[in-house]
Amino acid sequence: MTDDIHTFSPIGHLRTPFADKFGIPRQPSLAPHAIATLQLLPPFDRPEAVRGLEDFSHVWLTFVFHQTAGQWSPTVRPPRLGGNQRMGVFATRSPFRPNPLGLSLVELASVDTTDKVTLTFRGVDLVDGTPILDIKPYIPYVESRPDARSGFVGGAPERLAVTFSPTALAQCAKCQASHPHLAELITEVLAQDPRPAYADDPQRVYGIRLYHFDVKWRCDGRSAFVESLDTP
Ligand code: SAM
Repeated sequence: MTDDIHTFSPIGHLRTPFADKFGIPRQPSLAPHAIATLQLLPPFDRPEAVRGLEDFSHVWLTFVFHQTAGQWSPTVRPPRLGGNQRMGVFATRSPFRPNPLGLSLVELASVDTTDKVTLTFRGVDLVDGTPILDIKPYIPYVESRPDARSGFVGGAPERLAVTFSPTALAQCAKCQASHPHLAELITEVLAQDPRPAYADDPQRVYGIRLYHFDVKWRCDGRSAFVESLDTP
């Protein structure tokens, strides 16, 4: 007997605020203002394909870790363990998997079928352009397991306190019309402490690309400080 080889076609590519991987929250819902849109591609862009979906508050997105495809490893170093302990890839949510498939539970904000079929989600943890393979509604009565054990992951990590310089605040205010929740998004993203493991240099300036902004920030202990928002 041979294994079946299946070929999947993306139903669309997710447009997200995250221009590159650095800074993306490590799981969905940690940054509720990370708002993303998905315009369905032909031949999947039929209003009847999403009929009834608008009555669900949350959906599972199945997607391709397209930026790490082909780079799998049997063990990985989860950031939750400080990056210095190895776990089996199947005990983690690492993007470096034999089959680069990801699964994110996100809030469904809207379903628009007036022209194209466009879905809006909140709280995504995916880089801009991620190929989406499937959408399924979340069904709490079978999928919510508050008593489940969560291994080395434990509970939610401690958050950083985030403050802004007057310059950064003024820059956020200036783009209020085009990006109304930019300061909230920056706060949510930095609160997750996106620094690489071992990095603890209060002088070091990091850059995170959100939309077309290069957010410059530093971190001292448990406090992140936003210096400025550069634009190319
Ligand atoms: N919730 C999903 C899951 O469990 O399958 C993703 C979890 S994974 C730990 C989230 C990280 O994957 C993000 O922080 C980002 O670094 C990375 N990532 C997001 N989109 C990606 C993509 N399209 N290709 C490769 N890596 C991606």
